[in-house]
Amino acid sequence: MRTLLLLSALACVALAKETFHGHQVLRIQAKDETQLSLLKDLEQMFEQLDFWRDVSDVSTPVDIRVPAEALGEVREYLDSWGISFETMIEDLQAVLDEEQQEMESAARFGEARNTDSFDYARYHPIAELYSFQDMLVAENPKLVSKIVIGQSYEGRPLTVLKFSTGGTDRPAIWIDTGIHSREWVTQASGTWFAKKIVNDYGKCPMLTAILDKMDIFLEIMTNPDGYAYTHSNNRMWRKTRKPNPGSSCVGVDPNRNWDAGFGGPGASSSPCSETFRGPRAHSESEVSSIVNFVKNHGNIKEFVSIHAYSQMLMYPYGYTRTPVKDQAELHALAQKAVSALTAVYGTRYRYGSIIDVIYQASGGTIDWTYNQGIKYSYTFELRDTGRYGFILPANQIVPTANETWAAMLELMTHAKNNP
Ligand SMILES: [Zn+2]
Repeated sequence: MRTLLLLSALACVALAKETFHGHQVLRIQAKDETQLSLLKDLEQMFEQLDFWRDVSDVSTPVDIRVPAEALGEVREYLDSWGISFETMIEDLQAVLDEEQQEMESAARFGEARNTDSFDYARYHPIAELYSFQDMLVAENPKLVSKIVIGQSYEGRPLTVLKFSTGGTDRPAIWIDTGIHSREWVTQASGTWFAKKIVNDYGKCPMLTAILDKMDIFLEIMTNPDGYAYTHSNNRMWRKTRKPNPGSSCVGVDPNRNWDAGFGGPGASSSPCSETFRGPRAHSESEVSSIVNFVKNHGNIKEFVSIHAYSQMLMYPYGYTRTPVKDQAELHALAQKAVSALTAVYGTRYRYGSIIDVIYQASGGTIDWTYNQGIKYSYTFELRDTGRYGFILPANQIVPTANETWAAMLELMTHAKNNP
């Protein structure tokens, strides 16, 4: 009996969901280089701080989630150096409770039986996204198929939807969402894209022309263990779920794990860091499965990796200041895609190379794909600019996906028409 009680207690502990009572998200505006470096010091001083938006330049505010117990010290530090800040989120748990309530009340209607009744305007647990994919394939067998490119650390299939109107060895476009698991609007947008493609083929001339020449591969759950964990245990989880030997901290940042400037500045060697690069390049199966897929395919012409938040569209490089040789073309195309996006609802985006627009980051996805010869390599940071950050209200999913799709059509059309 005693053992049983102990076991059930353990089960409760293991299942307990991490809460964020009293955590605040502060938006900090550095006014010069000195203040920027003071913010970098802050990152070193307090390991428990979660930088939602990292230190970059004076034009980009830094957003930090500060646990309740560190608030006093952090505020004092900022005040003592005269660094201005405001509170973006007063109590993170209150916002998370609201998100949870909304999901639960939507879930009362039960799981969708087909992709027409699927609710694209809410966030779904992982099982529902897997069954969404299967329904879409079953409903559109001539256009959509599902391939499995590998397995996550916890054994989940790494599934990719393939949209193809036939032909062999067609050039292809790759889109991934959710490589950082807490960026929920990305997986939700990926799901909406999938339905949009089957709805619009044969109706939207731009998409039809693309699919008549090229295949589209879409990986919605690029970090499925992390995504499942954001629902079951910790809404703020970003990394993979692989344990790190010799450390109690779990997971690797799958957007610092690629073999492009791996180990350089803009990634951490500490397993407890949110930007931990991992023990070696491509150590994470979620990354190596894409690497193998891209190499085996051999004809991926465009690669788009989707993140949130900040409203940015970027091209390589992140790990070096050396501009890519296609900078002029990539910049002009980014500008075109952003104007198409902005034309939908007026949402404003910044664009440029990663290192110019955000900060130096090594081991990133699209630096690797560009170096593999995929000229049209882009990464998005979707809505918003920090009012809600990762907890974007579900009523913004469809507008976000819709405007992003306008940009995607420009990116894909250009890849179709150009070498
Ligand atoms: Zn991200």
